[in-house]
Amino acid sequence: THQVHIIGGGMAGSEAAWQLAQAGIRVRLSEMRGAGHMTPAHQSDGLAELVCSNSFRSDDAQNNAVGLLHQEMRDLGSIIMRQAAEARVPAGSALAVDRDIFSGLVTRVLSEHPNIEIVRERIDALPATGSTIIATGPLTAEPLSHSIGTATGMDSLAFFDAIAPIVYRESIDMSICWMQSRWDKGETKDYINCPMDKAHYDAFVQGLLDGPKTEFKEWETNTPYFEGCMPIEVMASRGVETLRHGPMKPMGLDDPRTGRWPYAVVQLRQDNALGTLWNMVGFQTKLKHAAQVELFRTIPGLEGAEFARLGGLHRNTFIQSPKLLDGTLRLKSAPHIRFAGQMTGCEGYVESAAIGLIAARFAVAELGGRTLPPPPVTSALGALLSHVTGGAEAETFQPMNVNFGLMPPPDGRVKKKERKAAYTARARADFGAWARKCGLLEGAALPA
Ligand code: FAD
Repeated sequence: THQVHIIGGGMAGSEAAWQLAQAGIRVRLSEMRGAGHMTPAHQSDGLAELVCSNSFRSDDAQNNAVGLLHQEMRDLGSIIMRQAAEARVPAGSALAVDRDIFSGLVTRVLSEHPNIEIVRERIDALPATGSTIIATGPLTAEPLSHSIGTATGMDSLAFFDAIAPIVYRESIDMSICWMQSRWDKGETKDYINCPMDKAHYDAFVQGLLDGPKTEFKEWETNTPYFEGCMPIEVMASRGVETLRHGPMKPMGLDDPRTGRWPYAVVQLRQDNALGTLWNMVGFQTKLKHAAQVELFRTIPGLEGAEFARLGGLHRNTFIQSPKLLDGTLRLKSAPHIRFAGQMTGCEGYVESAAIGLIAARFAVAELGGRTLPPPPVTSALGALLSHVTGGAEAETFQPMNVNFGLMPPPDGRVKKKERKAAYTARARADFGAWARKCGLLEGAALPA
């Protein structure tokens, strides 16, 4: 019999199974593909199938947050990173793989592991007892999704996820923008406001109408549409004034440079506790990513904007982790259940596997009667974990890729050119110290 039940053999579930099994724990891994079920995006029965791109993004651990996360996962003996290396195809500084070889390798290694039993079955309800990891991903099958919704008090878990872009605070030009809440005469300064005159506004609306949009996939059309998340370009198509009466409303916002309300504004709201990330309020959009960057950089004050995430609209299943999970990814209302992968509100193959990895390490510690302190928030893994378990605002919580904005800024003044290296050098040192202290490093190479 098993000690931990993992549901979902995707990126997170596969990594979690490996980590537990390597620690000597017996795992049952339930995967519905191969048992007559399929998701709308998967094509095969293989574990850890990549549903879209074949890239794990940048492998640069010195200048890129996801590259840094790769390295931290390697340090902890990640199976996803190990098999990615074996299935690697040329992609410059990115880590890309042959998806069939990759999935085939992961499937074989897990199948052959004496501590893992892979069962092809669909699980339709949260298990009432027993240590469990839910890793069923953004396309979680409906009956389980329903069961999770009931347990968490969320009406629906699968919906069109409207995402507005998120901007790094340090890339916003505050000589043009100002901070103020509407009608508050500058007493509360919760929003960053970018002013627009009429010519700017008219050109911006035209840009929204003309820009290339992402087409909906056929399977997305059956999913309910969230009220109040209409894409801005759809609003713009209803008339040139619509946005000025909606998210771009200028009333009650006094531009300190003129003392008057501008013709229109774009507002940004703080998105994480650190205050390093700001989301563009009401700017959910289906514009293609390149078109978003081009158009949004015409907004006064955002000429040099760097985006932690661009807007999008797609089907997604995720829970309000900051509210529902504790610091070790356990459901507060039913602590025998952990969540892992994209359901927790991370986004991306690598991030999902990373959260699977740390969920498993927490479970290993717990079964051994120990407590594993979370990785430091200055590391990529720690920052991502902290974001999903508490750093993010629960109300506006949206899936998020790992990025430097999730980490506290480096101490002291660091030149812009050297910032990324400062983040990663600190991360390597702090992560190494944590992993050594917790005895997690079985032979992996880390700088002393
Ligand atoms: P998954 O990898 O999806 O694994 C979940 C597994 O659970 C699946 O194998 C599924 O069959 C199984 N399952 C579901 N319900 C049940 C059940 N009730 N019982 C048993 N098994 C079940 N990220 C990127 O980095 N790059 C991309 O290009 C990319 N493209 C994406 C495209 C789409 C259409 C979607 C939806 C997401 C995309 N993502 C992408 C984001 C996301 O990171 C990946 O989907 C990632 O695979 C998520 O990992 P996961 O382990 O959480 O879920």
